[in-house]
Amino acid sequence: MTDCIFCKIANGELGTDLIYEDEQVVAFRDLNPQAPIHVLVIPRRHVATLNDLDAADSDLIGRMYLAARSLAVREGIAERGYRTLINCNAEAGQTVFHLHLHLLGGRPMGWPPG
Ligand code: 5GP
Ligand code: ZN
Repeated sequence: MTDCIFCKIANGELGTDLIYEDEQVVAFRDLNPQAPIHVLVIPRRHVATLNDLDAADSDLIGRMYLAARSLAVREGIAERGYRTLINCNAEAGQTVFHLHLHLLGGRPMGWPPG
């Protein structure tokens, strides 16, 4: 999608530092971090929400989680603990409609989430 900010980031159009890349997935640091470590893992392909994935995308969503796990190790938070989450649609607080997995860590996390 030409007007999607995360498509532009994945394509390198905005000069955002990509801290993880494979054929299907990229990751970069959140612009407005909510924790000392806050990374977004996204598919290169434009997918608006988690609702838009189907069974054929099981490899894609698996790669996103495995990338998050690798990044947690690299960022030094794997043993302490970290949180991964996907906000889907308005009531969950999704603001960018290109699927993204949040990786958050480096501080204690509250539960239940807000
Ligand atoms: P959502 O609320 O949709 O789950 O999360 C969207 C996230 O994208 C927010 O945490 C927001 O800070 C982040 N974000 C929005 N625009 C940009 C951007 O242009 N660059 C980066 N790195 N993060 C962004
Ligand atoms: Zn997009």
